[in-house]
Amino acid sequence: MKDWRLGCITEESIKNLKVLHIKFPDFWQKSYNSKNNFYYYIFNEAARHVKLFGKYEEYLSDDRCVKFFHRNCNFCMNPISADTNIDCYCTEDGMTWICSDCFTDFAQKYDWKTEEINDIVVKNFIPLEISGTVE
Ligand SMILES: [Zn+2]
Repeated sequence: MKDWRLGCITEESIKNLKVLHIKFPDFWQKSYNSKNNFYYYIFNEAARHVKLFGKYEEYLSDDRCVKFFHRNCNFCMNPISADTNIDCYCTEDGMTWICSDCFTDFAQKYDWKTEEINDIVVKNFIPLEISGTVE
């Protein structure tokens, strides 16, 4: 029987994924301190949220910009945030996030290759689309 976490995901689409291993909050803290690509990815996403909300500008002046970053495991939907203690994985485009439990259960079955990284590659990592109306 198909694992419930696969939902409408086809097994074919998750075979041979290359995933980046990221350990939060260390990865975020190093990014913040060195102002690397991942820092700007987080900062820009926060800035777009601030613009949309028209408030919380003070969050952009320090490491609180990370508070805007929320992802969910694509399989079990567990929340992933960069300022909490979590071991996780994401695809090279940053579109698919995977918690450590789902990684443990699926990595071998679907032949996922893991890469340890210190930063993201800007041209590969797709910015989150931020839209909507604020009431
Ligand atoms: Zn999961």
